[in-house]
Amino acid sequence: MTDKVQITGLSEAELVEFAERLGQPPYRGRQLFGWLQHRRLRSFDAMTDLPKSLRDRLETEATAASLTVESRYISADGTRRYLMKTVDNLPVETVFIPEERRDTICFSSQSGCPLQCSFCLTAQLGLLRSLTPGEIVEQIIIALNDAYGDGVAPPRGTNLVGMGAGEPFLAFDSLMKALRLMAEPRGLHIVPRRVTVSTAGIVPRILELATLPDRPHLAISLAAPTDELRDVLMPINRKWPLAELLAACREFERSLKPGERLTFEYVMLAGVNDQDEQARQLANLLNRHGLRAKVNLIPHNPADPLPYQPSDPERIESFRQLLEARGIHVYVRRPRGRDIFAACGQLAARRATIVPLTKDARGARANVS
Ligand code: SAH
Repeated sequence: MTDKVQITGLSEAELVEFAERLGQPPYRGRQLFGWLQHRRLRSFDAMTDLPKSLRDRLETEATAASLTVESRYISADGTRRYLMKTVDNLPVETVFIPEERRDTICFSSQSGCPLQCSFCLTAQLGLLRSLTPGEIVEQIIIALNDAYGDGVAPPRGTNLVGMGAGEPFLAFDSLMKALRLMAEPRGLHIVPRRVTVSTAGIVPRILELATLPDRPHLAISLAAPTDELRDVLMPINRKWPLAELLAACREFERSLKPGERLTFEYVMLAGVNDQDEQARQLANLLNRHGLRAKVNLIPHNPADPLPYQPSDPERIESFRQLLEARGIHVYVRRPRGRDIFAACGQLAARRATIVPLTKDARGARANVS
């Protein structure tokens, strides 16, 4: 890593302390917070109301650019994937997804991932390490600046999903600190109800999240209706099998606000977990546990080394109808950014057809409808 303080990961109070340690008055800390989190600056040079001597000092002590963008890929559907590097040279990927109502940024919580879900390309990297709060926040700053222009507020706000590389609940402290920082009204002001975090099923953290007052929405990756199959597709199931996972989900549902729902994600793998019988098992499983959750069916995004094919649209439709007939709220997710390896399960630091990140490109507007 680096000895420099990752300043984008500090709260306003911590920046006040940091300023005082540099012999500065407290208000300098508050100024810094505004420059970093509200104006989304990534260099001290541009902080024009700070004395030059302080900017020089900051340059030697701290960094607001602990991630650098290596490549940016733009999909035919407007989705953008950023392949970034940490100071210790590890890959971090972030996806910007333009949408009709409000754009979404999908961020990563780890470089690589320790879980070995058999349908996910990220698993092939293994765990490199968990990201720091600063590295999580910077992903969002980089994507926002690229999409809307440096420091320009998103016209309709931003949704965040913690569904990039890694298991967010194995980077829990970094994740929660980053979310607290991003919620700050004097900063990015992306509040928890605009954020959804997805877990493969780390049961103690599901229970912990349920107790937190300002928490994001939760999604659970399920992928199978039985332990027998889930043990194979998602080996984390051997540690926390379905009965425990769904009991935790039931507990979590007690913390839901009016209108809020828990989400289950179910990747559709042809001939593996997409049969009518499995739809019935899934509906029974959720109903038996008294869950009111909704189910998102995600067509599998195929990739070379993965031994699966996506289910046919007719198969998905039949599966969907069987769930719906049993009272389950179900949606079929539209894949985004498949052509640039930006879709679910495709983040494995791939180099696609390279669109170099030029100065012009950095300021370019996203293709928002
Ligand atoms: N580790 C967390 C966060 C990753 S979210 C979790 O498991 O929830 C990534 C989502 O993409 C998960 O719901 C996962 O089931 C899904 N996914 C993984 N590989 C996929 C693939 N090849 N095609 C479609 N969805 C996939």
